[in-house]
Amino acid sequence: MLGIRRLSRKRKRERRPSRYTLYSDEQAICSDGGRGAKKSEQRVVDLKNYTAQVLPLQNVDANGDLIVFQDMVELPYLHEAGILYNLKVRHMKGKPYTRTGDIIIAINPFQWFTEIYTDKVRTLYSNKLVWTDSGETDPRASLEPHVYETSSLCYKGLAFEGVDQSILVSGESGAGKTETVKIAMNHMASVQRGPVSESGNDSFEDPVVNRVLQSNPLLETFGNAKTTRNDNSSRFGKYTQLQFDVNDRNTNMVDLSKSTCKLAGSICEAYLLEKNRVTGHTEPERTYHIFYQILAAPEDQKASFWSGLKGTNFDSFKYVGNTATTKIEKRTDAEWFEGTCETLSLINLGGDKLTALMRAITATMQCGNLAFGPQAGDADKSECTSKKELADLADIIGVAEAEIQLAFTERTMKTRNETYKVPMNADSAKAGCDAFAKEVYGKLFLWLVAGINEATKAENNYPIPCSEYGIIGLLDIFGFESFVINRFEQLCINYANEKLQQKFTEDIFRSVQAEYEAEGIELAEITFDDNTDVLDLIEGRTGLCAMLNEECVRPKGSDEAFVQKALGANKKSPCLIVNNMDRMGFGIHHYAGKVMYSALYFVERNQDTLPTDLEEAMFKSSNFIIAYKVPEAPAAAGKAPKRQKSNIVGSTIWAKYKTQLSSLMTNLRKTRSRYIRCIKPNKAKVPVKMEHIGTVEQLRCAGVVAAVTITRSAFPNRMENAVARMRYNTMWDKKKYPTTRTDDDPLDVGLGKDCDALFTCALIEKQEGDKKAFVVGKTRTYFRAGALEYLEANRAAG
Ligand code: ATP
Ligand code: MG
Repeated sequence: MLGIRRLSRKRKRERRPSRYTLYSDEQAICSDGGRGAKKSEQRVVDLKNYTAQVLPLQNVDANGDLIVFQDMVELPYLHEAGILYNLKVRHMKGKPYTRTGDIIIAINPFQWFTEIYTDKVRTLYSNKLVWTDSGETDPRASLEPHVYETSSLCYKGLAFEGVDQSILVSGESGAGKTETVKIAMNHMASVQRGPVSESGNDSFEDPVVNRVLQSNPLLETFGNAKTTRNDNSSRFGKYTQLQFDVNDRNTNMVDLSKSTCKLAGSICEAYLLEKNRVTGHTEPERTYHIFYQILAAPEDQKASFWSGLKGTNFDSFKYVGNTATTKIEKRTDAEWFEGTCETLSLINLGGDKLTALMRAITATMQCGNLAFGPQAGDADKSECTSKKELADLADIIGVAEAEIQLAFTERTMKTRNETYKVPMNADSAKAGCDAFAKEVYGKLFLWLVAGINEATKAENNYPIPCSEYGIIGLLDIFGFESFVINRFEQLCINYANEKLQQKFTEDIFRSVQAEYEAEGIELAEITFDDNTDVLDLIEGRTGLCAMLNEECVRPKGSDEAFVQKALGANKKSPCLIVNNMDRMGFGIHHYAGKVMYSALYFVERNQDTLPTDLEEAMFKSSNFIIAYKVPEAPAAAGKAPKRQKSNIVGSTIWAKYKTQLSSLMTNLRKTRSRYIRCIKPNKAKVPVKMEHIGTVEQLRCAGVVAAVTITRSAFPNRMENAVARMRYNTMWDKKKYPTTRTDDDPLDVGLGKDCDALFTCALIEKQEGDKKAFVVGKTRTYFRAGALEYLEANRAAG
């Protein structure tokens, strides 16, 4: 049995490994880990020689140069610089993908290598990994690492083993998550066609498949925007479940040439749309693509949505504003709009539905043009000072002008005995108007997601009813974030990443366990850092989430009170950082590093509530999307307090988000997860360039280093038995430890025994009591720390 040891925080600090940062292509800086390591203890390591020293001979070419590995688990020496060097060489050679065991690291090339995404390549991966049984232990070995291998293995796992699968794609903004998900999804749509000749064509004539694939660009139109970090940045998280018909699943793997697991549909869930972008953005960023698209549409079409749209442009709407961007991914907004309308028709959202949707978009933009001022003689009361704009808004949404004006400028208060109106000043009225716009957009986005699901989900579309569908889930979610100023949104994002990291660590641990079991190794002790402390701090009974929700329920809840209460209640947490300089500040030691947060607007942003008057006005709208009642999420597992103030409705953002995340994690835990870690190699978004520090930080955040560390925690080095025996043959005292091999040994069991004899003799000095410095598995020998260096040093001496 394997021993699991979770490290205490103190031990974690002591065991902190040396960090190597690539300094130039040849050299790395190593800061030795451990307590009290000083900067002066940093030393420069000659990367090439340092690594070359211990490489088995066949891994170094004739010049003694490093050989780069497709799978970084094979790196004989593991440190950050080694990983970085390996990735960098591959990146420079135009190879975007590298493996670390089952994880794919995808370095965004910022140039399309179309030759690696052709139908021929797709077929190569599906034929080799899904439709043929080559009998090889690892059929991937002869293939370059690729997203297609992840999609193939998922498909195979579902089709032949009957296990639901998921692909978790992570990375920072612009790292390539959304593109990667699309690449994987396209591939899965083609694998399901069954084995095809390598010249098979690429058309997806199946209408269900077509709708499933087209739903991606559609969601991007409404949920993506140009930011400084990415021209097509997803401003929401997305989990898409591809549904497969597994009725005639080919479980016995007798005839691999039959495709029996067909793509039958998909269901998608969206997380945390950035609604603040609707009412403001800073140049050169943009708001959501759809706003520019609708304004670039042919004038007649615009007029068909709402007559007042004719002749308008970016400058006509304050929320949109002018922008220097004329093209996104080489297409103009007008061209994109044409595609958007076609796709909407494809998923049955054409005709009246299209008009309602475009009117709702127009209503959102129109809110930005409303202005409010004080009423004559009373600054506490306000009125809308832009009468024409107000009348237009009323017309677009189909609510009486007086009614909507009243909803913006007065708030209804209810006590037990009476109901009365409280006037609002101009600032509050404007804030209410912005909140109204955000709510309309948030609703239309959810309505769209629901519409897409209706059009794509197997239950509605697949001709053959299934009692249950097999699932391959694809998660495209914001990566860990740490900026100069971190707000509520960053805490939400980093919380999701902590949850996913927890699963990642468990999964890696399990795969190491499986490897040792397959190798027949009985006893090993794997240690790993787990992040339960951080999760306790965030979601525990008295954690930050609970404290914030409590503060939002209090009539006069404030950001500062939240911070002080949260600090008081979590004094003992090893992950909480107190900021003595700022009563509104606090920090968290996340798995990926320390992040300092500013609690300013936490209470407000967590509420995301609309005054009841505005909500009621919305329900009265003649536009059914604006009047749409978003279905309530199922109750959260924990406490999800309802706002008790009579004029505010809805539970907190955090409560809803926590519910969504818990259900996501429950769904993911039912699947076999595979990971793709996307890395953005440089900030300038240019090809053939890798910035070392930025890349290493992303590798740390992605847990890549941690993954290999877990893999190697008990035995940091490994070598194939055949290689090991040949390489250290001279150190084997055969008289003392004779070979037991016989000629009559077809499975070469004796090879393992030879290795055992060899290393018992060669590593006798490294023996610590009963603890051997090595363990011989079925195919590999595993070495404890220091053993391989010792062998190398003595081999060289001999
Ligand atoms: P965000 O979190 O902001 O949504 P993201 O991780 O989803 O970012 P993408 O939108 O997928 O990032 O990718 C950003 C850009 O990088 C793409 O628009 C494209 O130009 C480029 N890119 C991504 N993946 C690839 C690839 N495999 N080959 C070539 N270019 C790519
Ligand atoms: Mg994206």
